[in-house]
Amino acid sequence: MIELIYSDLCNGCGKCVEVCPTNALSLGTDAIPLIRDQSACQTCFMCELYCVSDALYVDPDCEQPRSLDPHAIRNSGLLGQYRRDSGWNEWAENPHYQNQHWRMDGIFALARSAELQPKLAALKPTKL
Ligand code: SF4
Ligand code: SF4
Repeated sequence: MIELIYSDLCNGCGKCVEVCPTNALSLGTDAIPLIRDQSACQTCFMCELYCVSDALYVDPDCEQPRSLDPHAIRNSGLLGQYRRDSGWNEWAENPHYQNQHWRMDGIFALARSAELQPKLAALKPTKL
């Protein structure tokens, strides 16, 4: 889930707040985003994808928040890694970082399939 926002890297564009599907982020009075509700984060990485300044860090752990050292993350090379490895924006023409999201098509098609729907329905929690 969303863990860190580096105000010194942020350009105040507000894009992360705009694309966040769960309103986990909000813009502060200084136009720097704030983590408004970390528990609402669904670890979708959209904010990382759209942040051209690589000013955000989303941790892959979608179950619980982690206490991360901002300096260690900054020095780790992880800032912007997801955007780069997804072939986003300036990385789109780089053959090393081609966008592989099309590979999810088969997964989504399977999820929509009539064969899988009864199994998914069976996974839904029942009322006590
Ligand atoms: S997308 Fe990045 S640069 Fe823009 S407001 Fe969010 S953190 Fe700042
Ligand atoms: S990872 Fe997704 S849900 Fe979480 S803050 Fe970023 S855009 Fe919002």
